[in-house]
Amino acid sequence: VVNEKTGDTVITNGIFEYGEVPKDQIRFDGQVAIVTGAGGGLGRTYALDLARRGAKVVVNDLGGARDGTGQGSATPAQKVVDEITAKGGEAVASYDSVATAEGGQNIVQTALENYGTVDILINNAGILQDKSFVKMTPDTWQAVLDVHLNGACNVTRPAFSVMREKGYGRIIMTTSAAGLYGNFGQANYSAAKMGLVGLMNTLKLEGRNHNIFVNTVAPLAASRLTEDVMPAEFLDKLRPEFVSPLVIFLCSERCPVSGHIYNAGMGSFNRAAVITGPGAVAGDPESIPTAEQVKGTLNQIQSLKDGKEYRELNEQVADVINAFSRPARDN
Ligand code: NAD
Repeated sequence: VVNEKTGDTVITNGIFEYGEVPKDQIRFDGQVAIVTGAGGGLGRTYALDLARRGAKVVVNDLGGARDGTGQGSATPAQKVVDEITAKGGEAVASYDSVATAEGGQNIVQTALENYGTVDILINNAGILQDKSFVKMTPDTWQAVLDVHLNGACNVTRPAFSVMREKGYGRIIMTTSAAGLYGNFGQANYSAAKMGLVGLMNTLKLEGRNHNIFVNTVAPLAASRLTEDVMPAEFLDKLRPEFVSPLVIFLCSERCPVSGHIYNAGMGSFNRAAVITGPGAVAGDPESIPTAEQVKGTLNQIQSLKDGKEYRELNEQVADVINAFSRPARDN
């Protein structure tokens, strides 16, 4: 609809309105995006938003149950494709599982065969199999790692190679507060989600000279994965539409950052990072420190005051070496 005062277009979506579409709108015309697990929840919204802004989208979804079981169904992905095409957008469905290398290759191949390239990859597919750690079987552990961590690797590897060749790419990893901060009963999920941060940390370096930016989002939204744990009074603001704007920005040419982690939910956004304190050299720098000297230096070792965010391993190693030029602070 058109705003009567300004004459600008306003896109409405039920209860909440999207803000006005600015004149310098972020667009993806001519670009090709892959969104995994896009048959519902957050992925569906990312796919719709990208398509609305001009991207051609591969809507990937296996169509299984919440825990990853079941035969799989073409319906969810195809439904989202139909939604996109009904609004005049371009999209194609892919039903492959991200959980195998072959599936990942097929998903990227779908983009190449239909649209000739891939510019954007959102690794979003996910399942849950929660159990307290002692009850977690090796199968439960493996199934969750296969979809989240191996899944991201399986799709990102072939996509990364296309992006490197063309000198452009935007990749999103989906982590979770469960991985960043921990959550009882989600050892498999937390490990997989933090693994994705590690994957990003290295890909940001390998992609740097090829204009490939890799960022990570920890969403908070009511979806099939979380519907039973979200407070009912916040459900409207917990819609994926309140997460998607950050993801869209990070996928765009205008995104200036790589290697960052963001929380996003209910329209609130912040950055999370690994911060390392200055620490201390325990004991006499010339000899092997003792556990007692570590205990004695614990306050300095633990302090995050004047902490910093390293951009790569080499910076951290350099600081360890530099620490020996500082006076010993043992006490
Ligand atoms: P969702 O269940 O609605 O979406 C996940 C989709 O992934 C489903 O449509 C599912 O069919 C698909 N999928 C599962 N296994 C697949 C496979 N092997 N190959 C391809 N597709 C597969 O849940 P959601 O909440 O929208 O989750 C999206 C992502 O966000 C997940 O990675 C999830 O872990 C993460 N996340 C969500 C929240 C939240 O609050 N909703 C919080 C933290 C992280």
